[in-house]
Amino acid sequence: MEKSQAYLRIQELRGIIEEANRLYYKENAPTLSDYEFDMLLKELEKLEKENPEYAAADSPTAKVGSDLRKEFDQYPHRYPMLSLGNTYDISEVQAFADRVAKGIGDSFTYSCELKFDGTAICLTYRDGKLFRALTRGDGTVGDDVTRNVKHISNIPQELECPAGFVPGDGRRQPWPKEFEIRGEIYMPWAAFDRLNEERVKDEEQPFANPRNAASGSLKLIDSRMVAERGLECTLYHMLGEDLPFRTHQEALEAASEWGLPVSDKRRICSNINEIEEFINYWDTERKNLPYATDGIVIKVNELPYQAQLGYTAKAPRWAVAYKFKAEQALTKLLSIDYQVGRTGAVTPVANLEPVQLSGTVVKRASLHNADQMEILDIHIGDYVYVEKGGEIIPKITGVELSKRGTDVVLPHFPEKCPDCGTTLVKDEEEAKSFCPNSTGCPTQIKGRLVHFLSRKAMNVIAGDATIEQLFNKALVWNVADFYELTKEHLLMLDGWKDKSAERFLKSISESRKVPFERVLYALGIRYVGETTAKSVARHFGDIDAIAGASVETLLEVEDVGQVIADSIWEYFNDQANMEIVRRLKDAGLQFAVKGEDVELSDKLKGMTIVISGNFSISRDQMKALITAHGGKNSGSISGKTAFLLAGEKAGPEKLKKAEGLGIRVIGEQEFLQEIIGTASEKNTKGPAAKEAPNDSASNETKDHNEEFTGTLF
Ligand SMILES: [Zn+2]
Repeated sequence: MEKSQAYLRIQELRGIIEEANRLYYKENAPTLSDYEFDMLLKELEKLEKENPEYAAADSPTAKVGSDLRKEFDQYPHRYPMLSLGNTYDISEVQAFADRVAKGIGDSFTYSCELKFDGTAICLTYRDGKLFRALTRGDGTVGDDVTRNVKHISNIPQELECPAGFVPGDGRRQPWPKEFEIRGEIYMPWAAFDRLNEERVKDEEQPFANPRNAASGSLKLIDSRMVAERGLECTLYHMLGEDLPFRTHQEALEAASEWGLPVSDKRRICSNINEIEEFINYWDTERKNLPYATDGIVIKVNELPYQAQLGYTAKAPRWAVAYKFKAEQALTKLLSIDYQVGRTGAVTPVANLEPVQLSGTVVKRASLHNADQMEILDIHIGDYVYVEKGGEIIPKITGVELSKRGTDVVLPHFPEKCPDCGTTLVKDEEEAKSFCPNSTGCPTQIKGRLVHFLSRKAMNVIAGDATIEQLFNKALVWNVADFYELTKEHLLMLDGWKDKSAERFLKSISESRKVPFERVLYALGIRYVGETTAKSVARHFGDIDAIAGASVETLLEVEDVGQVIADSIWEYFNDQANMEIVRRLKDAGLQFAVKGEDVELSDKLKGMTIVISGNFSISRDQMKALITAHGGKNSGSISGKTAFLLAGEKAGPEKLKKAEGLGIRVIGEQEFLQEIIGTASEKNTKGPAAKEAPNDSASNETKDHNEEFTGTLF
């Protein structure tokens, strides 16, 4: 490329990337797929490297760079982060008090505090400035999430000078030179509900509870997204060498004066009766709090006594957690609706007499399936217990039989689809009933049409009402029909004029450029979400390869298990689906991963490569790099694997398997320099204090499933 051409292309790329960034982060309306974005960025990086005279400090390659890195550094905890012993009964709190008194006599007090339901954090302040934020990790070593924590608005990056403190000659500070303060990052109910609503709309799995949402959000790779999640922090335990405090209370008061967030919902108690009073008060009152709490923490207040009592291997002897029972409400079941979803699943939904629960009024609750209804022995007219879990609508957990009247009615789960009348089939594994009439059931058809046009799929601007009309007027029956709509058709819709019709057709026309992975997602194959569609598309490259793949071959794709593989295979072995795909192909949609403009070399041609662990670029970028050099990615090691590209924290299983099969293991440096012949510019990393036990590709998914028991501090 000539210099002048390179210069123009660099300018153009910077413009495109900056605009894409702005739309993605500020408007929340991405215009490029991750893959497209990464490829453009890569092209820009390459051009800037070849033409160093055009490099600029404000280029997106310099600015966004760090935000694209997928790893967190790990650091050891100065003091181990242990868990707390849990109790569910006041008599166990009494037993704790007795044990303490036996150790230190009876001239001490308790600090009672709310137990926030979040994820543990350890902040270190040095010279009054936030130095580092570590997650609990395994208690000994934590993930460095400092960058993300800086986006949590109530965590000060610099401490305040307390009132009355006169800064002297600059050598004396109002705070200890260095100290740690531990607490909880949590997501208030309002932010949690908003996030889950958004996720459900995007067909992503909602977070099970605010704790999982908080921990997933804290581990987001892109710290700018953390800011949007509305996380908050509460701190409750200060640690350091020679802290000038006699009691825990004094330490918290000082922290509060320095501008650190400390909950004021705490009380000093001198005996078990006062503790019980505090527990009982908050067991009711917490329902009015804007965040989730799951208990009360009771600590010995005097620091010398804490030191005297010490620790067991697992927990401190000077503190205990009393856990509340899950929050419930009792209300009357008025009726049950049976709803058909996009995939044909029929779900019973209970209509309730409105009742207050976790700060919201609940009118509807999920009953999951017929089995669940039977287990609960639920009757219309019963009084039922409702709990708020992760679902948008709460669930019914029990029936209060003592309140059952004589006029209750046993509900019957329908045998036929409430929408189209087809006899339902039961999926034994999932205990769910499905309407099998996927091509003729109106709700399912409309659901698929809505999904196809949605933002993360084909991104065509159309409201549900428009789709309803198109369907009711028999203009659109399946997704391929969208591409045969004319202006005349659209003018048949109520209230549609030239302008709206043209806008819609333009949007439809533009969707022809939507990359293959999103088209694959748009098809609405059961269990194939955004991420799965992406990995399947990249693995196979085009639709014909996917349609022709056996279940076994499908299982080779990273993140694809038996259920997904079966579902994909079934989809493409249905003639009706293949006909839709054929028509969409004719309509000009993208059915192959675009490789031609990113092909860098054919050095990896014919090679199947497995990657594992973390690299200086993201795993997706690494995979794209392999594809760009003609190689093929695979999720599992077999005799056909050319080599295993192992980054930091590569999965031990994979390493073992590679060794067993005599397959070469190559590191990132070697790969970049010797195999594809580009030098890596970034190879500096913080001290990885400890090897993670397995492939830590997706921090968020893992945290999502992780169940912590007990308070971590
Ligand atoms: Zn039906």
